[in-house]
Amino acid sequence: KALISVRNLEKVYGSGTNAVHAIKNANFEIEKGEIFGVIGFSGAGKSSLIRCINLLERPSSGEVVINGTDLTKLSSGELRKARRKIGMIFQHFNLLSSATVFDNVAAPLKLNKAPKEVIQRKVNELLEVVGLSKRAQAYPSQLSGGQKQRVAIARALANDPEILLCDEATSALDPQTTESILDLLLDINRKYNLTIMLITHEMHVVKKICDRVAVMEEGNIVEMGSVLEIFSSP
Ligand code: ADP
Ligand code: ADP
Repeated sequence: KALISVRNLEKVYGSGTNAVHAIKNANFEIEKGEIFGVIGFSGAGKSSLIRCINLLERPSSGEVVINGTDLTKLSSGELRKARRKIGMIFQHFNLLSSATVFDNVAAPLKLNKAPKEVIQRKVNELLEVVGLSKRAQAYPSQLSGGQKQRVAIARALANDPEILLCDEATSALDPQTTESILDLLLDINRKYNLTIMLITHEMHVVKKICDRVAVMEEGNIVEMGSVLEIFSSP
């Protein structure tokens, strides 16, 4: 049974003559442990789609079923709990600039009122995983883009999520740094059997790490299949 099941998903911004139909009847499933990519040009609806998975954006209609639970039907309290199992990283990292690397990664644990020793252990483990143990007391402004994204990845993993959503996570990075971040995503995919959904406008990102890919155009998923199927078609 699929871990994520998106059914008849629609997203419309605005109304009347100003309505923008950003997602048109999206249907797909993602298996546990899979790396699923969504590729398309700017404005295709990718960001809207990935933000609907954790209800950062509320779908206009349709279902987002995770582990058998339709997130669109949950109360705000239940949703807050369900969201702990879904980490997210962004193009521009979204770190707290006034907090150290350690405190950025600790923030979600503190929100969940984790005990001090759990926070210590978990943050140190995650900084080790992303290769930033030595920078625990640095501030984001003292880090390179790749290092900032590593902090964001560690923070996203703090509550042991089952799913990691990546919103153009390498688009602000140079090619070499992109490679190293994609290698890290592959590592954590294997280490934690983490399911990853990512959106990108870059074909090489999808080719490097995705198992399956959906192609989006003007709100529609126009193709879906294994990376081999999608990129070998004439
Ligand atoms: P992509 O991530 O592929 O660039 P988006 O999901 O950001 O696509 O955008 C899809 C369409 O929805 C675009 O036409 C965009 O302008 C529009 N859109 C996105 N967010 C909003 C919003 N908050 N309000 C109104 N229109 C939006
Ligand atoms: P990024 O995804 O890199 O942060 P974007 O410019 O795509 O930057 O989007 C920034 C924010 O503006 C997003 O929250 C998006 O939903 C919103 N947005 C995008 N297009 C529109 C639009 N046409 N009208 C209103 N808000 C929009």
